[in-house]
Amino acid sequence: MSNLIDPFGRTVSYLRVSVTDRCNYRCQYCMSENMTFLPKSNLLSLEELDRICSAFIKRGVDKIRLTGGEPLVRRNIMSLIESLGKHVKDGKLRELTLTTNGSQLTKYAQRLVDCGVKRINVSLDSLNPEKFQSITRWGKLSDVIDGLEAAKQAGLEIKINAVALKNFNENEVDDLISWCGGQKFDLTFIETMPMGEIDEDRTDQYLPLTILKNRIKKNWTLEETSHTTGGPATYSRVKETGKRIGFITPLTHNFCESCNRVRLTCTGKLFMCLGQDDEKDLLTPIRTSEGDELLMSAIDEAIGRKPKGHDFIIDRVGAAPAVSRHMSVTGG
Ligand code: SAM
Ligand code: SF4
Repeated sequence: MSNLIDPFGRTVSYLRVSVTDRCNYRCQYCMSENMTFLPKSNLLSLEELDRICSAFIKRGVDKIRLTGGEPLVRRNIMSLIESLGKHVKDGKLRELTLTTNGSQLTKYAQRLVDCGVKRINVSLDSLNPEKFQSITRWGKLSDVIDGLEAAKQAGLEIKINAVALKNFNENEVDDLISWCGGQKFDLTFIETMPMGEIDEDRTDQYLPLTILKNRIKKNWTLEETSHTTGGPATYSRVKETGKRIGFITPLTHNFCESCNRVRLTCTGKLFMCLGQDDEKDLLTPIRTSEGDELLMSAIDEAIGRKPKGHDFIIDRVGAAPAVSRHMSVTGG
């Protein structure tokens, strides 16, 4: 079956799947405290998610990332991971990975490794227990630290994701770099993206990574690397720790020209761009036919509509978010 090539000649080889939009945390930049979640009645079953993922694998997708919401709080999630892991073992899937808040890793780290997961991204914005609790609203730092230890013991490679937030963790940057160095974790800083209504004003949180990077350079030696994960991060190596540091800059740098990904929600909507509203429904094709013909033609139509890029803007104070859905719907 033919690979997925969009109108701009980009091959789509990477699928991100938000397996649930729900979460046990309420990070302030991600969700409001009283979130309205997608109705459970529209939720794809794990078997349906597996069927859609397998169709993408047949069309040349060789990397799948499970995300959310918090992927590890979806009931019975390991059955999906086990099933996708078979494609890793038979060589069709080069990488199966996930982005998690780390709170469930003591329970799941070893099982993830058994399914063929080798690397994971864990989100952690502060190493201070009070600050961690305040940014996540409901989180306990020790759960994540214990989870990271379990993941290390199980042999998972770990990258920490930290959202750079003005007046929150900008003074913790050196601590994060040296702690990650000591733990042998890579680290990526992310700019806040204007997705979904939250309780705060995003312009108060926004910290351009150009400023952060210049500050980091005062205390650390950043060596340029050609490393790329095919994602939007640009990487350097911190000479003093030997670990990589990445910067995801959707607002100060446009990374769309090399975009190789699409995103599936837990209700079967395929988003061709994180920063645009266009979506293609894949739930109807799978529920109206047992064969995959309708699904495959829906996927083809979607890829044919993949836009050239996003246009996030954050500088209009009080303006509505660039896209109305939260990051937890399409996954980070
Ligand atoms: N719950 C998991 C976690 O926190 O890693 C996976 C889902 S979360 C939506 C994925 C990533 O998106 C996290 O690293 C989170 O910090 C980031 N994120 C959430 N909302 C964001 C926003 N508005 N701007 C930038 N990053 C955001
Ligand atoms: Fe949950 Fe992740 Fe969003 Fe935090 S960033 S509320 S952990 S989905």
